[in-house]
Amino acid sequence: MAVPRILIVGGGYVGMYTALRLQRKLHRGEARITVADYDSYMTYQPFLPEAAAGNIEARHVVVPLRRVLPSCQILSGRVTSVRLADRKAEFQPHEGPDLTIDYDYLVFAPGSVSRLLPIPGLAEHGIGFKTVEEAIHLRNHVLGKLDIAASTPVEEVRRRALTFVFVGGGYAGVEALAELEDMASDALKFFEGLRREDMRWILVEATDRILPEVGADMGRWTAQELRRRGIEVRTGTRLKSMEGGHIVLDDGDEFDAETLVWTAGVKPNPLVKAGDLPLDDRSRVKANAFLQIEGAPFAFTAGDAAAVPDLTRPGEMCPPNAQHAVRQARRLADNLLATIRGGTREPYRHKNAGSVASLGLYKGVAQIYGRELRGFPAWFMHRTYHLTRMPTVNKKTRILMDWTLGLFFPREIVSLGALQRPREEFKLAARM
Ligand SMILES: Cc1cc2nc3c(=O)[nH]c(=O)nc-3n(C[C@H](O)[C@H](O)[C@H](O)COP(=O)(O)OP(=O)(O)OC[C@H]3O[C@@H](n4cnc5c(N)ncnc54)[C@H](O)[C@@H]3O)c2cc1C
Repeated sequence: MAVPRILIVGGGYVGMYTALRLQRKLHRGEARITVADYDSYMTYQPFLPEAAAGNIEARHVVVPLRRVLPSCQILSGRVTSVRLADRKAEFQPHEGPDLTIDYDYLVFAPGSVSRLLPIPGLAEHGIGFKTVEEAIHLRNHVLGKLDIAASTPVEEVRRRALTFVFVGGGYAGVEALAELEDMASDALKFFEGLRREDMRWILVEATDRILPEVGADMGRWTAQELRRRGIEVRTGTRLKSMEGGHIVLDDGDEFDAETLVWTAGVKPNPLVKAGDLPLDDRSRVKANAFLQIEGAPFAFTAGDAAAVPDLTRPGEMCPPNAQHAVRQARRLADNLLATIRGGTREPYRHKNAGSVASLGLYKGVAQIYGRELRGFPAWFMHRTYHLTRMPTVNKKTRILMDWTLGLFFPREIVSLGALQRPREEFKLAARM
C-alpha cells in the first residue's frame, strides 16, 4: 500500500508545531510529510519587537525548518492554490517551473497578512510589522533617521526624520512602538544635539482603547504609561492620508513624517480564496471543533487563517493569536494521526489565559487568568513566558545569552540600512 502523503501549507506556528509533533509520533514509513512555506524558517512573532529594539539578535527569533524537521520534505516557495476536490495544490518554487503537489491529508495554515485600508499613500509609504525582515528594517530605519537628524541643522529635515507614526493599538503596534521608542531614547545619548523632546512618537488608534488583549484597565494604564514617556497616544483617531510623506489625521492634525508603521489588524492570508476551500463571512476557512475543514474529513486547518469554534465561548470563534495556534497545532496533529490510524478524534478546547506585552526594557503589562501585572513584574513575566515557548534549546540559549550580554553592555546603535543596497558601493567604484 502506498505511503500516505501529508501536505502542510505554511511552516509558521501551526505548520511547524504540527510537523514537529507528527514527526515525533509517526512510525517509520507510516506517512510522508511535506512542508511548503515561502520562507525556510518559522518566525517567533512575539519576539519581533525585542528583535527590532536590538535586545535579541534577529536571527535568534527564527527557527530553521530544515534543522528542526529532518524527517520532513521542506519546499521553499509560494503555494498558489489548494483544492480539496482532487486533493492537489499548486506550488511555485522561488525558481523553476510550477509544481502540482498531490496529497492524501492536508494541513492548511498560511496564517494572516496585514489588513490594509484604501488610504492614499499608505501602500507607498507604510510598512507592516509581521516579519523578521520588517523588524530588522525598522531598527535600521529608526537609527538611520537619528543619524540624519544629527547631521543637519535644517529644522524641517530633522522634524520629518524624527517623527514616527504607528497606526493600530493592538499588541503588535503597541509593543513595536514602545520597544523602538525605548531603544531610540536610549541611543540619543550618543547623538550630539538631539534631545528626547526633538522626537515625536505617535500612536494612532481608531477605537477609544489600546491593547484590548490585556483588558480595559490595563489598556488604560498602558496609555497613561506611554503618555508619561512622551508618546502621543491618539485614540478615537484615524489616518486619512500619507501622500508624499505628509500625514493627515481625521482630528485635523497634519504633519510630515518619514516613518509610518501600519499595525491595524490582520486578515486571513488571501491564499484561502485560491481554490475550493469553504469560507465564512470573514474569509476564514471554516473548521469544526476537531479542526477539520468543513466537508473534508481528510483536511485540517488552524491558526490565523481558520475559523475554529471556541468551545469555551459558545457561538464565538477562537481569536487569531499564538496562544491558540500552538495548542491547536497539538490537537490537530493528534486528530490527524487518529484519522490515519482509524482512532478517535477529540475536539479542541482552550480558555484564553490572558496576554503579556513588553513596553521596553524593564517595562511591561500583563493580564494572566484575571491577574493584572504592570511594570517590571509584567516585563519579567513576558520574557519568562515567551522564552519557555520559544522552540529549540539552541534558540532559547541564544536568546538568554543576548539578554545576559544586554545587562552588561549597551545596545548597538549602528544603522545597517545599507544592507538593503549592498552593491551600491561596488557600482559606484565601477563608474569611477
Ligand atoms: C509583532 C507580533 C507580535 C505578536 N505577539 C503575540 C503575543 O504576544 N501573543 C500571542 O498569542 N500572539 C501574538 N502574535 C500573533 C501570533 O504570532 C499569530 O497569531 C500566529 O503566528 C498565528 O500562527 P499561524 O500558524 O496561523 O500563522 P504564521 O505563524 O504567520 O504562519 C504562517 C506561515 O505561512 C507561510 N505562508 C503564507 N502564505 C504562504 C503561501 N502562499 N505559500 C507558502 N507559505 C505561505 C508564512 O511564510 C508563514 O511561515 C503576534 C503577532 C505579531 C505580528
